[in-house]
Amino acid sequence: MKFDLHTHTKYSDGIFTPKHLIDLSLRLNLDGISITDHDNIDGLEEAIKYANSIPDFKLIPGIEFSSIYKDEEIHLLGYFIDYKSKILIDYVNHLKDIRFKRAMEMVEKLNNLDLKINFEDIQKNNKHLISRTHIAKEMVRLNYVNNVKDAFDRYLKLGMPAYVAKKGLSTLDTIKLIKDLGGIPVLAHPGLLHDENTIDDCKDLGVLGIECIHSKHSKAETEGYINYAKNNNLIITGGSDCHGELIQGELLLGKYTCSIEKGDLLYDYL
Ligand code: AMP
Ligand code: MN
Ligand code: MN
Ligand code: MN
Repeated sequence: MKFDLHTHTKYSDGIFTPKHLIDLSLRLNLDGISITDHDNIDGLEEAIKYANSIPDFKLIPGIEFSSIYKDEEIHLLGYFIDYKSKILIDYVNHLKDIRFKRAMEMVEKLNNLDLKINFEDIQKNNKHLISRTHIAKEMVRLNYVNNVKDAFDRYLKLGMPAYVAKKGLSTLDTIKLIKDLGGIPVLAHPGLLHDENTIDDCKDLGVLGIECIHSKHSKAETEGYINYAKNNNLIITGGSDCHGELIQGELLLGKYTCSIEKGDLLYDYL
């Protein structure tokens, strides 16, 4: 069965509603998807309700946590988490606050650079979570930059003047949290890590899978990660990381997938 296990909705920095994402997935003949919004689960209940009304379509409850490891931000996917858990709800609410304050700090830095931005304008359109993407889009709207990438390259990415580091749980504690929530922790897009050795470290910290297949991985990287996962007895996952934008006129959704078959660990959870 073919699944895209990495997607975002408007509840984080994606464009689509969960329902729209599921309708598009059906058109692409996917057997299921996971919705993995950044640090957020607000879309899961409506997604699962809608998916349950569709025969033979599976919605895997997921999340993409940002975690802190050494000086790096590591993204961890948590699949099949108990999205009704009070512990989880409290933690994501805390992350929302942290992101809110961080976004305010970044806007202040931009204002000091004479890029006048009104924080309330960003906030009113993004009640669920504020990410750098939302700030970047506001910068495009105000004609301060040509596009979102430009905003990141010149102002928002690590090392640039309006960057503010995220706070949150360490990678170890995030892996533990996902497991405590009954979920499967998977290292997201290892190809985007700054230090290759971090993959070994994450294995030692307890991740159970690796996102070998991802829209930002080259063919050689994908093959390397698949071999690594096989040699280390880790689950191989894959997903597009679709946010809804068209990349060269095409939607990423369903272009990077993995199969879940009888006998696979993930199959038992379906
Ligand atoms: P945040 O979680 O607030 O740090 O925002 C990070 C999000 O911005 C990521 O999830 C990506 O969707 C997006 N992003 C990160 N780096 C870039 C970049 N260089 N160009 C465009 N979008 C980016
Ligand atoms: Mn994103
Ligand atoms: Mn990510
Ligand atoms: Mn993602």
